[in-house]
Amino acid sequence: MSAFTYCPGCAARLPSDPAQPHAAQSCASCGTTFYHNAKPAAGALILRNRQLLLAQRAIEPFRGYWDIPGGFLEPGEHPAATARREALEETGLVVELEEPPFEIVLDQYGDAGDHTLNVYYVARVVAGDERAADDACAVQWFPLDALPERIAFDHTHDVLRALIASRGLMATEGRRVHRSDPGKLSTSHS
Ligand SMILES: [Zn+2]
Repeated sequence: MSAFTYCPGCAARLPSDPAQPHAAQSCASCGTTFYHNAKPAAGALILRNRQLLLAQRAIEPFRGYWDIPGGFLEPGEHPAATARREALEETGLVVELEEPPFEIVLDQYGDAGDHTLNVYYVARVVAGDERAADDACAVQWFPLDALPERIAFDHTHDVLRALIASRGLMATEGRRVHRSDPGKLSTSHS
């Protein structure tokens, strides 16, 4: 979460440093300190016969882009429970997760650039019929070697490439399963 202008507890003005918008803020009036920690989120990499189920985002940011079904943790919710709940809400499918998590990655979210910590599980379908709902306007199975180009969020590209590699597949030429910073990660066109 980005810096507060006013204290949520007593409404006094809080100090802020534009150079460090995510630094903790202490209220001189009531003494409360506010920590702008990363927000935790979780998602399900739902696989069936080397195909991955993706959800098309109905909301901003990245409206219309394909995404891994998932979302933010509710207070007190374990990431595994979040991944199962979000999979059910967005795709209509009851899924079972592989432990441990497949990957944990950092990113930033939305206009405020809030930091996120994203936990992903490989999942398989145990019940239900797929249908898009909630934050998803469509759901579709994609072969792992033919994923769509319009993928939401920088970190999702990393996760999908790691998933492809873990299944013994290479991201093939022309598939945009790479991110905007080609220096950080190896890409498919080497
Ligand atoms: Zn205060």
